[in-house]
Amino acid sequence: MPITSTVHMAKRRSDAPEVTTTHCPYCALNCGLQLGHDGTIVAETIRWKGSPLTGGALCSKGVSAFEQVNHADRITMPLRRRGNDFEEIGWEDALDEAAAGFLRIAGEHGRDANAVLSGGSLTNEKVYLMGKFARLALKTPHIDYNGRFCMTSAGAANKLAFGADRMMTPLDELRRAEVAVVVGANISAAFPVVLPKLLDGVRRRGGRVIVVDPRASRFVKPGDLHIANRPGTDAIVFNGLLDLIAKAGLVDSKFVRNRTTGFEAALAAAAPFDVETVAELADVDAALFNEAAQLIGSADRCMYLHGRGPEQQVGGVDNVLAIINVGLACGHVGRPGSGVNMLTGQRNGQGGREWGQRCNQLPSGRDIEDPGDRAVVAERWGVDPDDLPGIGKTYVEILQQAGRGEIKGLLSICTNMNVSSPDLDRVDEQMAGLEHVVMIEPFFSRSARFADIVLPGTTFAEESGTITTLEGRVVRIDQAVAPLPRRSDIDIIRNLARRLGVSQHFDFHRAREVFDEMRRVSAGGPVDYAGITYERIRDEGGVFWPCPDEKHPGTPQLYTERFHHDDGRARFRPVQPTPPPVVVDADYPLVLTTGRVLAQFLSGNQTMRIEAQQTLEPACFVEVHPDTAARVGLEAGVTASLTSRQATVEVAWRPNPGLRDDTLFMPYHWPECNRLVASDLDPVSKIPGFKYTPVLLAPSSAPRAATGQVDASASTTASSIGINRAVAGSMI
Ligand code: SF4
Repeated sequence: MPITSTVHMAKRRSDAPEVTTTHCPYCALNCGLQLGHDGTIVAETIRWKGSPLTGGALCSKGVSAFEQVNHADRITMPLRRRGNDFEEIGWEDALDEAAAGFLRIAGEHGRDANAVLSGGSLTNEKVYLMGKFARLALKTPHIDYNGRFCMTSAGAANKLAFGADRMMTPLDELRRAEVAVVVGANISAAFPVVLPKLLDGVRRRGGRVIVVDPRASRFVKPGDLHIANRPGTDAIVFNGLLDLIAKAGLVDSKFVRNRTTGFEAALAAAAPFDVETVAELADVDAALFNEAAQLIGSADRCMYLHGRGPEQQVGGVDNVLAIINVGLACGHVGRPGSGVNMLTGQRNGQGGREWGQRCNQLPSGRDIEDPGDRAVVAERWGVDPDDLPGIGKTYVEILQQAGRGEIKGLLSICTNMNVSSPDLDRVDEQMAGLEHVVMIEPFFSRSARFADIVLPGTTFAEESGTITTLEGRVVRIDQAVAPLPRRSDIDIIRNLARRLGVSQHFDFHRAREVFDEMRRVSAGGPVDYAGITYERIRDEGGVFWPCPDEKHPGTPQLYTERFHHDDGRARFRPVQPTPPPVVVDADYPLVLTTGRVLAQFLSGNQTMRIEAQQTLEPACFVEVHPDTAARVGLEAGVTASLTSRQATVEVAWRPNPGLRDDTLFMPYHWPECNRLVASDLDPVSKIPGFKYTPVLLAPSSAPRAATGQVDASASTTASSIGINRAVAGSMI
């Protein structure tokens, strides 16, 4: 599978008369590209050499992304449930019924009986509007987004340690790094553009790449130092590194003394994790571990990159804090070529954490429980602070409340909970229990089976707005073609708000108007966009926040002089590693860990409709170490059966000698995966423990499945849900 492709971009393939500059809609690298179109049909992707960071490179998903825009499966008219079927209705009727349902529920059961679930692919403007809509239109505290499943552990840990939630060092600073430490980040599948080359640069200059991961992904090269630790032991590994580095006298004492607090307590917490203990608990080679500590502790410039491996665990926040403690102890923070960098996953996972669609947050990173923050936002919104709801429930908790009948109405946008959530069989039951479900989606999804009203949403080429990349760089997307459904998502929100009696707060017709209000709301706040304008973004190749005024250059490198805590110092946090709540035993002896493949993105509701992507990776599978396969009698061509405490699924299997023999890997783009995963949450970030599920592996007793055959009950087909295929297209 090619890492990057220029096949579609080698030369102009059409006579498209117009070109619009924008960014890929999938991952948080936000590779820039151009779309060739005629104002209605998008015909091609064109290389945009001026793209910040990525310079025109794209992976296959970015190359083919334009195919979603005019895809035959698009929903172009609102849909209304009719029994087990859906029928097309007019926009006015759909909006009337959508709003009436929320009003009825609020009247009968209280405002808290309505909730909003949102997505990490939305533009900043839509993120902001969804948060404002929940608080001022539905007046509910319950709004959260699917970034809760992605990097909230990293965000929480960064806030605790540094006082801000943003990647601290631009990625091209890897060009100066002597050592790169990649922790639980599948660079090959999740960041296939630029990062592999930057890591190659580290190797070429004689530096080392250290990988901490139970699975060696394709980017791991001979000569790299691979610590294949037992799943669930990241905090143990990094506590052990801290202890070793201190014992070797490699702590940057001046940095620790002048710029941090709490070192002694963190070191004391790490003291029990000497080399022998780490080797035993994490099942790692002691010599390799010693070498890693020497390399990290001796490096003047070291970049740590972590992305979802340590985060998506019930101890996710502690895992990231343990990594940060090592970076702080070595002074690898706030200096060129160094940084403890979180690799946010979704297109606007970063902006999604900033603009108020989290249950604990008001826009511009303001705290919903802080009276001062509430007063600022209320004043800029023109409402009384007492009218702002308080903290609400997180994503999984909202679904669980739905299952208990406490939440009865749901508005969702660009999130596919019936693929992406843990413990999917329970989620199906929870969603089925809701009384009124309104979804805004460009394509019918597995979750839309539970909707009462589906409002057709826009794709990336049909809207303008801003996105904040994983680096904290605000970039601009420009509308290429008119929305196929004839309304933008901003138009939908404005019209719903009018029906809920709060039109004065949602008088926005264009994304730029929303952005101007966001700049005003953010001024002086923790996430300050006040100086960022649409013009500057295009002229300057994006602008990094904080940017408090229009003369300010933006802030690519954070923490050069001070951290964002009031005293300017970073915080070491003592980490006491705790095991996952349910661990392997005789009945469930292997650990299932989950992640991505290159060809698909998230729940696949877009990429699985694109032939090129579907050809590359058509169905779910599980990776098994060859020794493990032999041990359980799994032969080539036999379907694998996996059983966890939540469910049993059957999928094709592939051998992977780069995986620990006590660990299995399954991509989460298909529903089989999250049927197996439990809904235990990190106590701070409330992220589910996707990376550790005890399972039993066996050959299936069922007849051999064709490659890609899946458990039929997990699939969504048009016939199984009674949808008119001509209306809703093929289902995923
Ligand atoms: Fe770039 Fe990510 Fe899009 Fe691939 S999916 S082109 S890496 S933004």
